[in-house]
Amino acid sequence: MKQLTEKIKAEGSVLSPTILKVDTFLNHQVDPQLMLEIGKEFASRFAGSGITKILTIESSGIAPAVMAGLQLQVPVVFARKRKSLTLVKDLITASVYSFTKEENNEISVSSKFLSEDDTVLIIDDFLANGQAALGLAEIANKAKAYIAGFGIVIEKGFQDGGRLLREEGYRVESLAIIKSLENSIVTFEHSDEGKAEMIR
Ligand code: 5GP
Repeated sequence: MKQLTEKIKAEGSVLSPTILKVDTFLNHQVDPQLMLEIGKEFASRFAGSGITKILTIESSGIAPAVMAGLQLQVPVVFARKRKSLTLVKDLITASVYSFTKEENNEISVSSKFLSEDDTVLIIDDFLANGQAALGLAEIANKAKAYIAGFGIVIEKGFQDGGRLLREEGYRVESLAIIKSLENSIVTFEHSDEGKAEMIR
């Protein structure tokens, strides 16, 4: 998705050979116009898949997921990373190792928001080693919902998550796929998306 790769080139910064910071439009400040375009793109890629619900994880998955939900006209459920006082009964949970925080989180969704009647699109901001995505899939599977696929804003193709999910037979639609962050340069998988020098 050209608009997204241009934004990454213009505003992203490479924190290390494995971490890209995009807090000007996705992870802290949010660019609503770009999120709307992202939502439209997910909606068009999954049009006709019979999606009844979008599942994501707080906090950075929420903005793209809500925009996709708006386009597909379905509700958006986000898994919580911390126990809420109002969220105590009938929880579906999964354990997820956080790539950026280097800690385990128990993520949870109330069972009243997912059921065997649902066809779920799982959306997240980044796909790295796939732990968050697999945790969300575990929750959807425990609810006996059908998983139509994954919509990922930025996949880091040099890490294992994409391969793991695709090997499990899941459809994975990533709007930008990064081949490498070596030497503080972002290289995208598709050659037309080019390279961006981002030494900041
Ligand atoms: P995974 O579970 O696939 O290893 O990592 C995905 C999660 O870690 C995402 O939900 C995202 O919040 C975070 N993450 C992974 N890699 C990056 C990255 O390069 N930059 C940022 N900002 N977040 C990342």
